[in-house]
Amino acid sequence: MSRTATNPPPSPIATGLRGRCPACGEGHLFKGFLAVKPACEVCGQDFSAFDSADGPAFFVMSITGFVVVGMALWMEITYEPPVWVHALVAGSLAIGLSLALVRPLKGLLAAVQFANKAAQGRFR
Ligand SMILES: [Zn+2]
Repeated sequence: MSRTATNPPPSPIATGLRGRCPACGEGHLFKGFLAVKPACEVCGQDFSAFDSADGPAFFVMSITGFVVVGMALWMEITYEPPVWVHALVAGSLAIGLSLALVRPLKGLLAAVQFANKAAQGRFR
């Protein structure tokens, strides 16, 4: 914990998409591909309250589905390829796009959650 969180905090979009700490913008949010660290190694911000749940999966499915279905329709109308070409292109595009999008979107949702001080509802 050598530094403290910046005031005002950095942009949640810039830090979230890069997988950086939403408080200081320098520490890393992830310890693996998608696992969130317990705390920031630079400023000590506690990440244990961050829970994006199914949020990133929803956005990944929506964006990937729109792109893959649009691509498949365009390919069919333009080239009328055999079914195995559709399966190959749509399958690899769906997997590749999902893997490319899920980490930045999870970081973005965690950073937006931090910026808006979102937390579990509580009874007093
Ligand atoms: Zn930090």
